[in-house]
Amino acid sequence: MMNYPLTLAQILEHAHRIHGDKQVTTLLPDGTLHRYNYIALYERVKRLANAITQFGIQRGDRVATYASNTYQHLELYYAIPCIGAVLHPLNVRLSPLQLAQIVGEAEDKLIFVDSGFTAQFKAFQHKIACQQVIYFDPTAADADVPYERLLSEATPVASWDIRDENWAMGLCYTSGTQGEPRGVLYTHRSMFLHTLAANQADVFGLTEADVVLPLVPMFHAMAWGLPYATMFAGADMVLPGAKPPCIANLIAETGVTVAAGVPTVWAKAYPELRKRRKDIGGLRRLIVGGEAMPLPLIEAYEKELGVEICHAWGMTEMSPTGTFSKLRGAHRSLSDAEKWRIKAKQGRPIPGVELRLAAETSNGFTELPWDGKTIGELQVRSPWTANNYYKVKPTPEHFTTDKWLRTGDMATIDADGYMQIVDRAKALIRSGGESISSIALETVLLKHPYVHEAAVVGIPDEKWGERPFAVVVLTEQTTENISDILRQQLASEFPKFWIPDKFVFVDEIPKTSVGKSDKRALLAQLASQNLLDKSSTVCKNQIVEPAHKK
Ligand code: AMP
Repeated sequence: MMNYPLTLAQILEHAHRIHGDKQVTTLLPDGTLHRYNYIALYERVKRLANAITQFGIQRGDRVATYASNTYQHLELYYAIPCIGAVLHPLNVRLSPLQLAQIVGEAEDKLIFVDSGFTAQFKAFQHKIACQQVIYFDPTAADADVPYERLLSEATPVASWDIRDENWAMGLCYTSGTQGEPRGVLYTHRSMFLHTLAANQADVFGLTEADVVLPLVPMFHAMAWGLPYATMFAGADMVLPGAKPPCIANLIAETGVTVAAGVPTVWAKAYPELRKRRKDIGGLRRLIVGGEAMPLPLIEAYEKELGVEICHAWGMTEMSPTGTFSKLRGAHRSLSDAEKWRIKAKQGRPIPGVELRLAAETSNGFTELPWDGKTIGELQVRSPWTANNYYKVKPTPEHFTTDKWLRTGDMATIDADGYMQIVDRAKALIRSGGESISSIALETVLLKHPYVHEAAVVGIPDEKWGERPFAVVVLTEQTTENISDILRQQLASEFPKFWIPDKFVFVDEIPKTSVGKSDKRALLAQLASQNLLDKSSTVCKNQIVEPAHKK
């Protein structure tokens, strides 16, 4: 057989030749839509590729982006890797200090800055090592060569020259909620294979007829591979810019059929989408991941809006897709409630990914059974899973000696291969020697109509080691004895020792830079309000009344 290199240039060339008329639509900050087709994108990518090399960028050099989801960012998603350089999308929500460390470690040689982020970037530019900057905004004071002029003055590159599919194509840092951000370097081969796997019918299942909206930021785990999967499938793409004012309007106006984002985004968008139910009839599927999708939200989308929810699990380290939750043929005869319960699991490994549940012993790991009950550490391997962190030697904390990635997630796997995340290993609450799953408690709390958001955290306890503590954002409706009601709701599903000792009601749960509940920040916030002091944590069944009800 031909030794045919698997590179992103193949994806770009295929989209250009076979799907040239398909559209990329971007929501601009002024609310208008910018549209062009894959032929126009291709021609700009070829000129951009040559323009980048004028800055002395060579094979393997890191080129960063500080940008939202726009057509320019999409152009960079192809131009940078297709000249053999490494695309490094920076998380615009990180602190200047974190960004300075990341840019320093990555040794970025050039940074592209989105129009919406010019001022934000300039505020910390002096702290970062890279001083070659190209602004999308032509009015940025020091935009010597703004993006558009750079493109218009460049000649198109004659051909792509990626000689080895194992060349690096991208670098993403983990979001840093579990410690310091760590870099993950993807290769052309790993991203190409991830694209093929993601596009299987039982995975993202994108078709040429789809209109795909990646709401997941392009700096979060390569936008879950969607910029590549969408163009390889030949689907249209809608890019929402930095912060679409109304997701429902965007979906209605552009005819989106498949959209992807974290649960928080879908919880927020639900009322808007419900109002515009008649105008979003084309929306057939949501790909939801990054955090557990609460069962009531799955139910609401499927029952009220007729939109299929596909729950996905993955990690920056996995390019990022690992599992995908679709029902099996054998599930057809189940009731809706039973189907939603399965969909709330994180799903089965996508083809190419291997999972195992492990328990650590004195001489390594033993494998645990797939019985849907036994909780173990989730370990993975695949052609698109990292085997080390960027510039860091693999350590036993992250990689096993037989070369599996230790995900840091605790999970169960049932006999059909459906994996369910129980908690992050470090977040699993250990009380009196037993494990309590914060995710399971949150899921049941969220079933109550008065609960808008819920986060359960473990707090140190002298007697039990740790005890659960529930933090709840209530909907507008509520009653005086809401804590007792919630306690009863949990008691109907969990043993007594699982019931949180304390319920605190807040107006908002802090979010991480990628929109997940930030339990570290939440704990710090509660501590600063003296809500975690020792006396209040020792099994006293304390109740703090809702802040907005006082
Ligand atoms: P990141 O690399 O920022 O995408 O974070 C990866 C981590 O997010 C995983 O190890 C999980 O802890 C969590 N995660 C991702 N997807 C899900 C999901 N569908 N349900 C629960 N946790 C998830």
